Amino acid sequence: VNVDVKLGANKFHVDEGHAHIILKDNPDLNEYRKLVNACPAGLYKLEDDGTIRFDSAGCLECGTCKFLCGETILEKWEYPRGTFGVEYRYG
Ligand code: SF4
Repeated sequence: VNVDVKLGANKFHVDEGHAHIILKDNPDLNEYRKLVNACPAGLYKLEDDGTIRFDSAGCLECGTCKFLCGETILEKWEYPRGTFGVEYRYG
């Protein structure tokens, strides 16, 4: 099963206005690129012109970005509050 199919099987509850991951202003692009490649949900995007696009909705809470770049890129990383966040339907 490829990752898109797996992602399609999960349900997200987005806590609008309370992003659980916040990036630093003007993050180092070389560090950021690691996350573009590493985030299994593809949430870290980089446009051709170098514009960063990140949306924490759809986060799988895997912790990869925190582990890889931690304080160099992330202003905040925490698990979503209460019932928000990803709900794994299979296992
Ligand atoms: Fe992507 Fe995982 Fe970081 Fe969520 S915790 S933004 S899924 S790398």
